[in-house]
Amino acid sequence: MSNQETIFSKIIRKEIPADIVYEDDLALAFRDINAQAPVHILVISKKPIAKLSDATPDDQALLGHLLLTVKKVAEQAGLNNGYRLVVNTGDDGGQTVYHMHLHILGGRQMTWPPG
Ligand code: 5GP
Repeated sequence: MSNQETIFSKIIRKEIPADIVYEDDLALAFRDINAQAPVHILVISKKPIAKLSDATPDDQALLGHLLLTVKKVAEQAGLNNGYRLVVNTGDDGGQTVYHMHLHILGGRQMTWPPG
């Protein structure tokens, strides 16, 4: 299941449009097409790791980079009062696109527990 082509690979290659808010050599961030909050941005690695549970120790620096990218993108989006970071992982986690991604949700008060 790892390293499969998904719609996010096409977004990385700019083959389909996306509202990209940040890009560097390792990461890409773009607005979710079906926003669940006033700000809903996905941060993905350009390397196609299918899901977090497929990451290996070799991915340590990349995973750290993704978290620091979240911080940067959230600041850029003006989420100064906080935000929710979600990584749906696998079927029970509700993951639908098998290219690991971090959801930044903000601009409203989040509740707990999640659905
Ligand atoms: P998951 O359910 O796997 O955690 O999240 C996948 C997310 O990708 C969903 O929130 C969904 O709305 C978003 N998504 C799926 N296809 C596209 C697309 O083509 N463009 C964008 N911008 N978001 C997408």
